[in-house]
Amino acid sequence: MQHLEPKQKTGLVVILTGNGKGKTTSALGMALRAVGHKMRVCIIQFMKGDLYTGEIDGLKWLAPLVEFHQTGKGFCGIQGNPIPYHEHRANAQCAIELAGEKIRSGQFDIVILDEINNALQLRLVDLPQVLELLDARPPDLHLVLTGRDAHPDVCDRAHTVTELVEIRHAYRDGIEAQQGIDY
Ligand code: ATP
Ligand code: MG
Repeated sequence: MQHLEPKQKTGLVVILTGNGKGKTTSALGMALRAVGHKMRVCIIQFMKGDLYTGEIDGLKWLAPLVEFHQTGKGFCGIQGNPIPYHEHRANAQCAIELAGEKIRSGQFDIVILDEINNALQLRLVDLPQVLELLDARPPDLHLVLTGRDAHPDVCDRAHTVTELVEIRHAYRDGIEAQQGIDY
């Protein structure tokens, strides 16, 4: 089998946004693909923490090439989440600080910041902080940002921006989220 390598290695900023399903799982797919190339991946999930998702344990199978950090206290602003806004913000602030450390560390080929777009939209992190992360990116590091409502100024700075559009979602037919597919 032929192993192609790009003549010029260019770190890409990739944004996965939109209201259709597949943003987080697409980012996880890139991690899986990268591991095949022995690349080192760091994944930081923003605003998670109240519900179990398969990647929490699934990614352990990809260690030590994949390092995984789940941060947050569940969805902010969603009914039934009792955590006050300032706690969500404090959490997201820790996560973005961690992201900066990982991006600057030189220890990774890919850094994935899952749901950071939502964190920005909900003002748990600020636009200058996200732009600062992009500035801090070493030129050969790939940076993947996921979540709905990606900020236009962040999209302007990305190489690849994909909007996942909902055409149908099982949820609308009253089918509950399914293991392995939805979480
Ligand atoms: P996934 O994690 O499946 O790739 P996602 O990252 O694109 O989804 P999120 O907005 O992070 O989507 O939502 C995560 C959860 O919500 C998943 O269980 C997903 O199936 C579900 N979901 C995604 N899009 C929709 C939608 N349009 N309506 C209802 N549920 C959705
Ligand atoms: Mg997601």
